[in-house]
Order: sequence, then structure tokens, then C-alpha cells
Amino acid sequence: MTQPTQTIQAIAVSPGIAIGRVLRLRSHSHLLEPEPHKLEPGEVESELNRFHAAQELTRKQLAELRERLRARLNSQDADIFEAHLLLVDDKMFVGAVEKGIREDLYTADYALYQAAEHFAAVFNGMEDEYLRERGSDIRDVAARIMDNLSEAHNHEIGLDDRRIIVGSSLSPSETAQLDQSKVLGFAVETGSATCHTAILARSMKLPAVVGIPPELPESLSAADKLILDGYTGKIIINPDARTEEAYRLKAEAAGALYNKLEQDKALRPETTDGFMIQLAANLDTPEKIDEVRQSGACGIGLFRTEYLFMNRLKVPDEEEQLDVYKNLLVASGEHPVIVRTLDVGGDKLNSNLYRAAEQNPFLGLRGIRLGLHERRDLLETQLRALLRAGIYGNLRVMLPMVSSVQEVQDVREILDQLTAQLDREGKEHVSRLSLGVMIETPAAALLADRFAPLVDFFSIGTNDLVQYTMAIDRSNERVAYLYRPTHPAILELIRRTVEAARQNNIWVSVCGQVAAEVRVVPLLVGLGVHELSMPPASIPMVRRAIRSMSMHEAEKTALEALRCSNASDALALSEALVRRCAPEILNI
Ligand code: PEP
Ligand code: MG
Repeated sequence: MTQPTQTIQAIAVSPGIAIGRVLRLRSHSHLLEPEPHKLEPGEVESELNRFHAAQELTRKQLAELRERLRARLNSQDADIFEAHLLLVDDKMFVGAVEKGIREDLYTADYALYQAAEHFAAVFNGMEDEYLRERGSDIRDVAARIMDNLSEAHNHEIGLDDRRIIVGSSLSPSETAQLDQSKVLGFAVETGSATCHTAILARSMKLPAVVGIPPELPESLSAADKLILDGYTGKIIINPDARTEEAYRLKAEAAGALYNKLEQDKALRPETTDGFMIQLAANLDTPEKIDEVRQSGACGIGLFRTEYLFMNRLKVPDEEEQLDVYKNLLVASGEHPVIVRTLDVGGDKLNSNLYRAAEQNPFLGLRGIRLGLHERRDLLETQLRALLRAGIYGNLRVMLPMVSSVQEVQDVREILDQLTAQLDREGKEHVSRLSLGVMIETPAAALLADRFAPLVDFFSIGTNDLVQYTMAIDRSNERVAYLYRPTHPAILELIRRTVEAARQNNIWVSVCGQVAAEVRVVPLLVGLGVHELSMPPASIPMVRRAIRSMSMHEAEKTALEALRCSNASDALALSEALVRRCAPEILNI
């Protein structure tokens, strides 16, 4: 049954338009209890066939997932899917499901649920911790088969077509695992424009919205078609032909503009009165380096190393990290590569491989705090790998979530110790790392004049700076309306940071999401930021914005914006300048 046409307003977090059928997502660790319907004896055979079809599909999906992860991670980490594959065909488990269908006349869903709960309970009762964990593997595999049972119902829809994911939430690690050849975009309940799931969506060029009504995923089926508008946040369920055509045209126009702007990649990103702004790329996974090079970026302004640590059972060691950093540096030639030390915490990597659970993770032992306090081993391994990688290119290192000067002094001390250690071991390394801090706490921005003499650069992380200044959880869609980077308090913190940098002759970048927002670019340029770092796909638009305005106008606008009382007024001033200079980039 498909739903009638309906439009839902959600929150746009990753631009683009997706048109396609629904793939309902469920958290695989939650195996929901189905209704215990009974079968008629004559239905047993077709129900067994349905179960076997779902089993086959699950086998195929897990094998694909394993291969994809093998290509990206070491094989040990992909082995988790090997174990799941064995469970799909486990004789006792499968036998129990078949018996439930054949003898107890349960539907495949209910028989599967019963068998999974039975075996999970057996494992959970075991003394050995490793075996106890296998209980959740059983539930995980059963939940996958359960999802595929509803797919197996639906014969008219090819299972290999690309779909729009609709679900309650997607974690950054789940998003990183999405197969882009199968996914058109996603719509989830939780999140915001600056949560890491949204950041990954932009980097993967997947249109995405958050803040959908909680009941939406359950009300949709694989037969429903959606238009997902990642520019406005609209979702249209089962659109009529005219609406669909209008959206196809909109998507085509956006694509054509993008292709046109991409042709300008060799042009210098300088204002009409000759001020150059460096445009760098944010990188989440090392494989995206080719995309960075094609974008015309002047280097990597932020490599979020947490993604190297994600979806694996073992922390990457020094040699593995050295290899990754070296490859990035070699591929980037003389362009700078800014590697950020591990920023675990908040909505990223809360696995107990790294840290204990916290009530309030965004205010917890996050970023540099974790490395300096509980996990010195992680920080030292990473810094050793970076000191060694530095000889292969133009490496810069920056520290996340800094809030006091002591943290920088502590890292400098550790660097001295590690340098001496590498000397003793006879391992080649750079004698000095170019070291910067992220300005992403109000404390760091307010004390920028105290930090500046100690570091080589600042990189303003507006995603967190807005979160911590406005006191809003950046992944909470309910307070997303308060996420306003043009709020005068934020502009004032940026102004202070730039001023402190200027006085100490160091440079300042902005690497938060706002760097890619063309409507805000005049303010960042006018406030005196030297570099903007963003997902590669945003570079063409931002280049056009910069090339069409003068520094004089940008400075004037920024000064006026600083005097505004609220975010909307400041944004309106900035947008008005873009509308005058480059209206085409606002028309999508
Ligand atoms: C930021 O906070 O703006 C930033 C770039 O870091 P992340 O989004 O990874 O927290
Ligand atoms: Mg941050």
C-alpha cells in the first residue's frame, strides 16, 4: 500500500535533490517483537521460501559490506561481518526458525524473533565476556534478516535500485559505511546541520534532511516514492507527475550551475580588489583525496582523523597511521595538509574502545582532553606518526577542543619528549611540527591573544563554537533553530580571534560548516579570515562568491553586522551583498 501525496517540512542539512523509493532503516541492534500471527498449514511453504529469500539477501549484503570494509580497513576489522555471515547460515539458528514456521505455524518474522531471542539469551547467560557479546551479534543479524523479510514481500521492486533511507537516526559510523552506489540520500529524525552525520552526507554528496516526524519511517513502505529536497528540507511523499518533473528540472539546473562553476577551478579565489582567500578542503576519509585534488583546493584545511578510528575492532597503530598521513602528504605535493589530532567524543566514536560512556559527552572528555588525560597512549601514537610523516610534505597539526593555554603547553612538552624518543630510536622525523589550535570553545576565542604567541595558526571550528557559545547541542534537531553562526556573539568571537592572530602574525582559517555557506562568506572575508576550509563540493560556489565581491564591501558589511542585535539582521546584510554580486549562486 502506498501513501497519498503529502509534503513534510524537515530541516535541510545536505544540499541536493533525491527522487526515489524508500529504504526503511532500523537500528540493527534493536530487534522489535513482531505480531505473533499464525499461519494456515497451506502457507508454510511460501513462508519458508520468504525466509530463505531474506536469508539469501542478508548473505549478499553482509558479503558486500565485508568486501567494502576490507578495501578500506585491515581485514581483522572486516572480520566482524565474517562472523555475522556464519550466523546467517548457522544450522541451529536456521533450524530453529524453520521449526517455528513449520511446526508452530509462526510467521517467518515471529519465528525469527523467537529463535534470535532464545539464542541471545543463551549467550547472554555465559560467563565468558566474548561469548556474551555474541548475543548482540545474533540480534543484529536477525534484525537484518527481519528487514529483508519485508523487502522479500515486495516482488515488484528491484532490490538493487538506489533508495532514499528513512529512519530514526544514523550514526556517523553507520553513515561512513553507506554504499553510495545504493543510496540516493537520507531523511532521519535526529541531527542537525553540523552533526557529524550531516557533515559526512555533504562530503559524500548525499542530499539529506533531519527532523522528520518520529512516526514517518513506520508509515512508509518500500513502495512509496519520495522527493527529498536537501536545499529546503522538504520531503514530498508520492508526488504527482508534475511535481516530480519540476524537481527533476531543479536538480538539473543545480547540476548545470555546479558544472559551470567547476570550470573556474584554476581561477584564483581573490576579491575584485585583489585580496586572496585560500580555499582548502575538509577531508573525512583518506580515499577522498582525489576529489580534493580535482576541486582545485589549495590543500587540506582539516583532516578529521577520527574516521580512521571508526568501524573497527582495533585502534590503528603508529605504522598504519604513518602510512595514511604519508600518502596524503605525498598526494598533496607542496600544498599544506592540516591533520587534526583525534577528536573523539561528542557524537563521534563513543565506543568503549576509546572511552567510557558519559552523561553529557559534548561537555565531557572530548578531543585533546581525552589524549591528555585518560588516553595519552592514543595521543602519543598519533603524534609520533605525525612527527615521522612530516618529512614527506607540508604538514600542519592542530588540536581540537582546546580551552586552556596549559593544554597547548602540555602538548608541546609531549612533542619534545617524542622527538627525543624518535632520535634515540634512530627514526627519521621533522624537528618541529607546525602546530595550531582549533578555536571552538568560547574560552579559546576569548583568550586568543594568549594562545596566539604559542601556536602557528588558528582554525575556527564554528560547528562547535556555535554549540558552546549558544548552549545548544549541535546534534539536537529541537534546538537547531538556534544554530545561527551569524549571531553577533559568534561574529564577535571570530573578530577577536582574527585580531589576536593579526597582532601575532599568524594566520586564521575557518573550517566549520559555515565556511561553505555562500550567504555568510562576505562576513568571514570581511572579518579578515585568511582561509576557508570546506567539503570539496562547496568550493566552486564559494570561489564564485569571493571572486565577485570586493574586500572593501565585505569589510563594510562585516562591521555593520557586528553592530546588529540578532543573527537574522546580520545574515540579511551578508546575503544582500551576495545577491548584488553573484545572485546566480543564491537561486538554487
Ligand atoms: C567544528 O567544530 O567546526 C569543526 C570543524 O570540527 P568538528 O565538526 O569535527 O567538530
Ligand atoms: Mg569541532
